[in-house]
Amino acid sequence: MPKSINPATGEVIEDYAEHVDDFVERALENAELAYRDWRRTPFGRRADLLNRTADILEKRKHELGRIATLEMGKRLKEAVAEVEKCALGCRYYAEHGEAMITDDERPGPASKNYVAYLPIGPVLAVMPWNFPYWQCFRFIAPALMAGNVGLLKHASNVSQCALEIENVLLEADAPQGVFQTLLISSKRVEPILRDRRVRAATLTGSEAAGAAVAATAGSEIKTTVLELGGSDPFIVMPSADIAKAVDVGVTARMQNNGQSCIAAKRFIVHADVYDDYTARYREKLEAMTVGDPMDEATDLGPVAIKSGVDDLSDQIERSVKAGATLTTGGAIEGQGFYFKPSMLENVGKEAPAYREELFGPCAIFFKVASIDEAIDISNDSEFGLGGSVWTNEAGEIERFVRDLDTGGTHVNRMTASDPRLPFGGVKRSGYGRELSKEGIHAFMNAKAVTID
Ligand code: NDP
Repeated sequence: MPKSINPATGEVIEDYAEHVDDFVERALENAELAYRDWRRTPFGRRADLLNRTADILEKRKHELGRIATLEMGKRLKEAVAEVEKCALGCRYYAEHGEAMITDDERPGPASKNYVAYLPIGPVLAVMPWNFPYWQCFRFIAPALMAGNVGLLKHASNVSQCALEIENVLLEADAPQGVFQTLLISSKRVEPILRDRRVRAATLTGSEAAGAAVAATAGSEIKTTVLELGGSDPFIVMPSADIAKAVDVGVTARMQNNGQSCIAAKRFIVHADVYDDYTARYREKLEAMTVGDPMDEATDLGPVAIKSGVDDLSDQIERSVKAGATLTTGGAIEGQGFYFKPSMLENVGKEAPAYREELFGPCAIFFKVASIDEAIDISNDSEFGLGGSVWTNEAGEIERFVRDLDTGGTHVNRMTASDPRLPFGGVKRSGYGRELSKEGIHAFMNAKAVTID
């Protein structure tokens, strides 16, 4: 099991031992037993558990936030805000979950026809480190409200967060086995997923991990939801409020130290405003304070793992060799995994940055002459997660909503997940949806019932 390492210093925080096979076997047994009861609990009891969980998250948000900052380097205020968002997600499903999955009367051949939404069983969640709490709670809240039970295999560098999530649920009085964390390496996911007691899996992470988990699940005829990488466009048209598009554009790229699947990664800017936009953007980046994520004054903390710096440096170097220009930024030598806020311009089709996801604080820029060109470049990507467009022309808004091949289009605002709206992607960004009613239905049996 890789150790927990503080990305701000490079120091080892803790070396966690993996859970042995016997522990995993007991967890699977517990999950199966817990499911037998939990699936029959009234909605009110499930909602109560989620509300108590939200209370604890709110009460412990500073402490939990600190743990995330220590393990993966996000700025403390972002970490605390993430815990608050988890509480919000729990409260959302506590309040609205029942209405989403209550029996649904339909016209049909019998005297009474309806759809009964039933849980399916223990679901395995394989999660990444970048939003170590939110990625998990956006699975946990709808799963438990649906009557399913959860098993978590978290990323190996955030084991403390993984254990705390289980602690929060236990403190909220979740019955034994309703939610369990497994500290295991990724190679031990396959046998667990093949186990008959596990009914489905959800994975947030890289394409490689998603493909591996989906292949195993597919061979076992088990359903999956995949939330994978993204290289979201951020399109700026001449009618946009440029000052706001610069401010929000910097946040949309640099939030979470540049490591968000839905970060704005490709800035596609109309030629009429390109020079103005990029000059202001560069000025903002150069004014950012890079440093200790615990410090309130820090604008950009370290990336979570050492290889994050190396991979980003390599992608930039190969892109520059292919003709792109690094107009500001670059890696920072020394202690901790720091990278300056960076801008890559003149990115041609041959540059790796054109196709690959840059998972760190580097924005790439394209100058376009028309909305057609903006849409073409946006869609010329294997990814299709989210996208932000900046325009005040109604006709352009209509075209972006219709023609961008993504799971979300957000106009004059940045892409962000919200419990009230479905979240997910198309193409190699994955399939299935989390959050909202689509998210709770992802792991349910929509049973057709006819009664004469
Ligand atoms: P990884 O895919 O390496 O890790 C994600 C999780 O999958 C970890 O728990 C990891 O375990 C596990 N895992 C890795 N390989 C396998 C495998 N072969 N079988 C089973 N499990 C596996 O991703 P990163 O941690 O590097 O996260 C960054 C990526 O995730 C980026 O591409 C990013 O865009 C994407 N992402 C997508 C999001 C979305 O909502 N669409 C949100 C956040 C990130 P272990 O740590 O032990 O290797």
